[in-house]
Amino acid sequence: MSSRRKFLKDCGTIAGGAGFSYMTFGRNNWTEVKDKPVSSSKLVLRFKPYVLHLKHVFTLASGSRSTTPVMLTEVEFDNVIGYGEASMPPYLGESHETAGSFLSKVDLNRFSSPFLIEDILNYVDQIAPGNYAAKASVDIALHDLTGKLMKQPWFRIWGLNPEATPNTSFTIGIDKPDVVRVKVREAAPYKILKVKLGQGNDREMIETVRSETDKPICVDVNQGWKDKKMALDMTHWLKEQGVVFVEQPMPKELVDDATWLTQNSPLPIMADEAVQTLSDFRKVLGVYSGINVKLMKCGGLHSAYIMIKMARASDMKVMIGCMTETSCAVSAAAQLSPLADWADLDGNLLIDNDVYEGVTVRDGKLILTDKPGIGIRVRD
Ligand code: MG
Repeated sequence: MSSRRKFLKDCGTIAGGAGFSYMTFGRNNWTEVKDKPVSSSKLVLRFKPYVLHLKHVFTLASGSRSTTPVMLTEVEFDNVIGYGEASMPPYLGESHETAGSFLSKVDLNRFSSPFLIEDILNYVDQIAPGNYAAKASVDIALHDLTGKLMKQPWFRIWGLNPEATPNTSFTIGIDKPDVVRVKVREAAPYKILKVKLGQGNDREMIETVRSETDKPICVDVNQGWKDKKMALDMTHWLKEQGVVFVEQPMPKELVDDATWLTQNSPLPIMADEAVQTLSDFRKVLGVYSGINVKLMKCGGLHSAYIMIKMARASDMKVMIGCMTETSCAVSAAAQLSPLADWADLDGNLLIDNDVYEGVTVRDGKLILTDKPGIGIRVRD
């Protein structure tokens, strides 16, 4: 028995879904899912709740918050550990409780090899509908594990050029002008800014950013505009302000209005809330100019890769985004970023208690590491 496994055994294991009072990171208090005795050649899943602390209160069209619950996961095989993460901003409906309940049902012992990625993820997907962040946490850990076993990072396994990573945008939440100015100055290392709109002070937000910088801006309205003619007027005005695209301007249900806006807008109109999973893809075809792919929405890297390929084959733009996440999920998404037109992978930069190190940003550009798997290590 490895010293690590002995340590876990000595700590005991917690019944699935229980014991969520421990929010610190460390080697104890992981819940190990094992329905039968574990041999060294079986897959073992562990998970542990954790709470991310945001550096700034973050305001979107849907509300404000200063923390985000995440579930950290590990999949172990032959003493090699892959790391994963579920990030669960409250508006998406998942929580420590739902993820704990879901992950407790995931019996990876039934698989003899972690390379059965298709079979394993199909099995995980059919356990229960929804739970996409929890599913992503297994998918990411499995990719990290298999990449480590192959001793290669996933961008290389996919044949992607690490030099082709895009600049990542830095997100400026909705706030008062003096706070926005401070945030724009903090974003000095980034070449492109993502400005949240949709709470009635849109022109003030953009004019405040423009009083500080002439960098390109992308705009995320988070469904905040309700009228298509007003939305079209705004896209013309935003183009004059140096905005490069508008993300999810109107409620996702307004399909005809989104189609009309995309046809008439001088800027690309990107779908975010309107496209969650692979099965949603056909709903946005011909409706939006492109899609924002996020691991937590679609269930992980396996689905994200397919969605990106489908978008490319449909002549659509691709953006790869994230939630508030540690460097685990952000570094996983960054493996795919050479395939994207734009990246919004700043979730790890918005928190002050990251537990991993992985992808970094240099002169605004994502820098992939040569480490295998998703390219991360646990912080000292
Ligand atoms: Mg968005």
